[in-house]
Amino acid sequence: MPDMRPSPETLALAKRAAEAVDEDRVVQLAQGLVRVRSVYDRGLGTTEAAAARYVAEQLRASGFEPVVEEAAPGRPNVIADFEGSAFDHTQHRTLMFEGHTDVVTEGDPSVWSIPPFEGRIDLGPDGLESSGVLHGRGSADMKAGVAAAIAAVEAVRTVAPDLPGRVRLGIVADEEGMMLGIKSFIANGWSDEVTGAIICEPEENEICLFQKGAMRLHVRVFGVMSHGAMPYAGVSPLRGIADLVVALREFERREQERIGEHQYLGWPWITPTIIQAPAKGEAQHNVVPDEAYLALDIRTAPGQDHDTIEAEINRIARSLEAATPRLRFEVECFESRPWTATEPTDPVVQAVEAAYPEVFGTPPRYGGVPGATDGTFLWAIKDIPIVTIGPGDRTIPHQVNEFVRLADTIASARLYAAAAILYLASRTPT
Ligand SMILES: [Zn+2]
Repeated sequence: MPDMRPSPETLALAKRAAEAVDEDRVVQLAQGLVRVRSVYDRGLGTTEAAAARYVAEQLRASGFEPVVEEAAPGRPNVIADFEGSAFDHTQHRTLMFEGHTDVVTEGDPSVWSIPPFEGRIDLGPDGLESSGVLHGRGSADMKAGVAAAIAAVEAVRTVAPDLPGRVRLGIVADEEGMMLGIKSFIANGWSDEVTGAIICEPEENEICLFQKGAMRLHVRVFGVMSHGAMPYAGVSPLRGIADLVVALREFERREQERIGEHQYLGWPWITPTIIQAPAKGEAQHNVVPDEAYLALDIRTAPGQDHDTIEAEINRIARSLEAATPRLRFEVECFESRPWTATEPTDPVVQAVEAAYPEVFGTPPRYGGVPGATDGTFLWAIKDIPIVTIGPGDRTIPHQVNEFVRLADTIASARLYAAAAILYLASRTPT
């Protein structure tokens, strides 16, 4: 195994990149982004477009040549590269910084103690913004991460114009929905030459090599309609769902026993989230409906296989059908996001690990990502090693009174800048 430790020259350059991060720029970008409401809402007709435009304008003003392309109508991705003058794409690495512009709904704004899109900053104890707190929807998830990534690339460009590598910013749409942004980014070839990626999601600046997987399923249960006084004349789809839910609880327990509790991801789960009967139409107290609906939210960990899980749910459904004539189940998995596990020996991991103590002054801290991210698809479709790390408390996304500490955001930017240098400049000859 080659010596993976960076040379003293590379380490010094990485430190300079970290120091070159412009704190005011990080704050300005994060605040500017929060002020652009980028909730995707078909009813209101709002999308990420304005936030993408803001990102593209900021990049253009800073000397980048961003490409803006629609992942879906009105839902643009923004892509921008910095290539060092020594960069040769046939032999050098490309590091991607990944972020998303969309945010989830703020819900009822009157419940917030600070208006969700004001972009208010409470100054730190020293009276500075850079040690303060930025409030608002999307501040942590993940406009601070996007701001940190942009400021990091600017710092890298300043200290290492001749870097033998490329940094690619992929700031995409629709992470909170069906992840159309990253899927389009991949389909359009933007990830083809990416050799490693840092996913800038709020993970308390912990190095995350594991992300949980997710499956979403519709289960439709068909019975036979009948009078509440004569249930024997029909077949109750509600009892079918009840039996299935109990059997799935048992299946979940078996999987938990088999897989165990993952050090960073916890337990795998099979969770019913919606039960609806009748599945459509008017409910009536004395009518057994003919159809019921069950939604399943399944969260997986390394060692589980999504196809096997789906097959087992189908097997359970068939056995329930066999036990009750005229009862029928339809199981449809409409979204499958595999768990990810990046090799700790991968150079992108080692770059982040080597950068960490330079910025934080402590040994690296590690965590796990509780949900899927855009990184899931980079890993699963393109085999790209990913590290997820960024500013913001892990549990704050999607909550009321979302906030991010600006010192954490600046630290992320410094970490990204140093990691980019270590990853791109210290490439061992092949
Ligand atoms: Zn996010």
